[in-house]
Amino acid sequence: MNLFDLEGKAALVTGGNGGIGLGMAKALAGAGARVAIAGRDKAKNAEALKVLGDGAVALIVDLKNEKSCRAAVDEAAQKLGRLDILVNNAGINIRKPPQELSLADWHEVMDTNLTSAFIASQAAYLHLKRAGGGKIVNIGSMMSIFGAAYLAPYAASKAGIVQLTKAIASAWAKDDIQVNAVLPGWIDTNLTRKARVELKGLDERVLSRTPAGRWGIPDDLGGIAVFLASAASDFVTGTAIPVDGGYSSQG
Ligand code: NDP
Repeated sequence: MNLFDLEGKAALVTGGNGGIGLGMAKALAGAGARVAIAGRDKAKNAEALKVLGDGAVALIVDLKNEKSCRAAVDEAAQKLGRLDILVNNAGINIRKPPQELSLADWHEVMDTNLTSAFIASQAAYLHLKRAGGGKIVNIGSMMSIFGAAYLAPYAASKAGIVQLTKAIASAWAKDDIQVNAVLPGWIDTNLTRKARVELKGLDERVLSRTPAGRWGIPDDLGGIAVFLASAASDFVTGTAIPVDGGYSSQG
């Protein structure tokens, strides 16, 4: 038996039309899963489908909206015929010092990064149970464990992802559903390209602080996605695994 084989499995990756989500979606498809991606941008979805190839499905959804988020999970299960794997990856950041953040800024980040993961997981529960068990992979961040001056709601949402992971893992282990978080280090995507423009010296700081001596690329997250989505991780649940080139292990 190939422990990493995802043949016959179906996966939904939120925000799978670019960056880390697309890196993970590609790896899941490469391991044999049928994949659905869900984002707001039609053009990005269409480009991602070209990369993911036959059998992949793209959904247009704003995950901040509870009804749409639930409907997207149901639609993915319906279009793929089942649902075994949910990757809660969609995320945004609004970079301002805490005293300048509006409550609307706070809610936008929390709703996108944390609340949508809760809602999508809840919506996926019956589908995963129907499939006889399943896997949920939540995307945290180095900001799940470290702080920074300009991203209070982002850090709160990513710390919340880790605790949400543990709570749901504890509840649904009896249903043979494993729930884990991945904490990426600094990965070269649209999100961090914007940060590099907005934050002077970020590029140098990331390179000097990351033992691997480079930025990660979305494909660096493919292996952990397949591991946490496959039988290889059947006794792994409630964890938060850094994939960071050593960033979090260096003092
Ligand atoms: P990108 O900006 O490249 O990707 C973000 C994805 O989320 C896009 O696919 C976007 O699709 C989707 N998205 C955002 N808001 C919504 C929404 N309201 N509804 C539906 N989809 C949405 O960033 P990354 O790939 O870097 O980020 C992916 C995840 O990884 C995020 O959770 C981020 O916090 C996390 N992360 C990233 C790190 C990095 O260094 N890059 C480090 C640690 C964590 P669309 O635009 O079509 O809506």
